[in-house]
Amino acid sequence: MSASRPVDVSKLRVAEGDDADLDGRDPRATPGYDGDKESSVPVLAELNARLEELQELLYADGRHRVLVVLQALDAGGKDGTIKHVFDGVNPSGVRAPAFKKPSSEELAHDYLWRIHPHVPGDGELVIFNRSHYEDVLVVRVLELVEEKRWKKRYGHIRDFEQMLVDEGTTIVKIFLHISPEEQAERLQDRLDRPEKNWKFETGDLEMRARWWDFMEAFEDAITKTSTDDAPWFVIPADRKWFRNLAISQILIETLEGLDLRHPAAEDGLDQIVIEDIPKR
Ligand code: ATP
Ligand code: MG
Repeated sequence: MSASRPVDVSKLRVAEGDDADLDGRDPRATPGYDGDKESSVPVLAELNARLEELQELLYADGRHRVLVVLQALDAGGKDGTIKHVFDGVNPSGVRAPAFKKPSSEELAHDYLWRIHPHVPGDGELVIFNRSHYEDVLVVRVLELVEEKRWKKRYGHIRDFEQMLVDEGTTIVKIFLHISPEEQAERLQDRLDRPEKNWKFETGDLEMRARWWDFMEAFEDAITKTSTDDAPWFVIPADRKWFRNLAISQILIETLEGLDLRHPAAEDGLDQIVIEDIPKR
């Protein structure tokens, strides 16, 4: 642990060719960080400030595109992640499109059709709240298309993401790994607190009942599509404070890896004098 690298996130990355090994990872663990919740508060504030700085530089630099794919089960913490990790980040240059159940128009096209228009442009940081991975997750578990069709999608997705990378996009993919016990608590909280009732959907319970089918689908998706150029990170996410620290650190390292710089200033700025406006 060091001041500039408070969390060692290297163990959270799934190397190309490795199994995601979800069973072997504890969702309550806090790997790579030797502090506790209390000590994490000022650390997160520092990481936040650094991320804010880097995002502004990404925007000013205008030569790079960054895509963060965020996947989780219901109550996995996608909204909370976006809220906390990007706290204070300037909304210009950041977007967080959410991919819900496809519309009939979307279903009338291939599954990447609705995704592509949302990828980041120059200088942008885009966080996908759910993504094209739903088409090998929920679609697989609920058998919304035939197996022979979804099985080919891992290859398409690898190629699609590689194309984005080859054309100048940096990609990181994040799975918020929670335990079924933690999901139960969070769903119960949505039932118990009137101000959270709106987040509760009975359909979430049907999905919850398929927990291990979803884990198998995540295991396969992550294993088959984590590449050197578009890696997956599995974040132990039962502890929200650790999740926030780890994801902030991953994004900072990603942006620091880009050789960001301010665009060259015009020549002769030091000669310029800003004149007073004469009084009316
Ligand atoms: P929250 O965590 O706050 O509940 P959410 O991401 O679950 O947010 P919802 O509107 O509740 O948002 O759910 C979106 C739903 O759309 C999810 O059940 C998801 O599985 C589903 N969905 C997304 N993409 C697809 C897809 N390609 N095919 C079928 N269902 C999809
Ligand atoms: Mg939901």
